[in-house]
Amino acid sequence: MLQPEQQRRAYLRAMGIDVWLPHDQQDDAPADTESPGADFSPAELDWEALQQCVADCTRCELAASRTQTVFGVGNHDADWLIIGEAPGAEEDRRGEPFVGRAGQLLDQMLQAIGQSRDRVFIANILKCRPPDNRDPKPGEAAACRGYLERQIALVQPKIILAVGKIAAQNLLGCNDPVGRMRGKVHALGEIPLVVTYHPAYLLRSPSQKKKAWSDLCLAARLAAESSA
Ligand code: SF4
Repeated sequence: MLQPEQQRRAYLRAMGIDVWLPHDQQDDAPADTESPGADFSPAELDWEALQQCVADCTRCELAASRTQTVFGVGNHDADWLIIGEAPGAEEDRRGEPFVGRAGQLLDQMLQAIGQSRDRVFIANILKCRPPDNRDPKPGEAAACRGYLERQIALVQPKIILAVGKIAAQNLLGCNDPVGRMRGKVHALGEIPLVVTYHPAYLLRSPSQKKKAWSDLCLAARLAAESSA
C-alpha cells in the first residue's frame, strides 16, 4: 500500500507534473544506494555555518582553481529562488552570482515581474567556477548538491526558477533541452519549479525573450497560488 507522500507523488505524476526528489528519497531508489555525497550532509547547518562550510569546501577539484566560492545572494526568506549553473569569470572574481551583462538582464527580468535581486535568493548548482566556463561535471554537481539542497530547505521558496539548461537538467535529473522543459510546471519536492532560458542565451538570441517572459508569468502565477 502506498504511503501518503508516495500517493501525492503518484498524483502529481498522473497530472503530468515532474517530481524531483533527492536520489535517496526516490520511490525506486535502492535502500543501500551509494553516492559521492552519501557521507556528507549539511542538513543541520544554519546560514552562517553553511556559508562557512562552502567557503572552506574542498570536496571537488574546482577548489584548486577558484578565486573564491560564490555562495549565493539575496533574501533568506525569499518567495523566489533563482538557480543558475555555475560562476563565470566575473562571478568568481566578485563572489556574486549573475553579474555582468547576463546579470543585468536577469535583474531586468526580475524587475518586470515586480521582483528584485534583494527580494529573491539567487544561487547556482556549483559554488565554484569551472575552468574556461566549461559545463559542470556530474561528480562536481553531486559533490556540491548538499549545499544547494540546504539553501532550498532554509529559504523554503514558493517558486524555483531554473535558469538555463545545465541548472534545469541537474535539478530535474534529465537531459532534455530547455525548449522541452520550459512552459511546464515541474516540482522539486513540494516546491513548484519553472524552467526558463539563461539570460546569456537570451543576449545571443533576443527573439526568445517572449518565451522567457511567458515562463516568468507562469512562475509568478504559481508563486501567487502558493501564497494564497
Ligand atoms: S564546487 Fe562545490 S563541492 Fe566543489 S569545491 Fe566548490 S563548493 Fe565544494
